[in-house]
Amino acid sequence: MKCVVCKSSDIQMKMVEEEVRSGRDIVLIPIEVLVCQNCGERYYDRKTMRKFEEIKIRLKEHDLEVEEVGKVLRVHAA
Ligand SMILES: [Zn+2]
Repeated sequence: MKCVVCKSSDIQMKMVEEEVRSGRDIVLIPIEVLVCQNCGERYYDRKTMRKFEEIKIRLKEHDLEVEEVGKVLRVHAA
C-alpha cells in the first residue's frame, strides 16, 4: 500500500486519538489506524468507520463513559 498523498510506502498501524464532534463537544477516541509515517495521513478501513458510527450513536445516548480532558474554545470573529 502506498500513501496517496506523498507516495511513501512506510504505512503502519498506530494508536492515535481521533476527534469526533458530538453536539457542541469534541470527543477524543483512542483507536488504532494505518498512518503514513512520512506525512501523517491516516487511513480508515470499513471496520474503523463502523466503529466511529457506533461510538457516535452511543455518545448521543450517553451510553459511554467519558472524562473531561480540556475545553473547546472559539475565538471571536477575526
Ligand atoms: Zn504520506
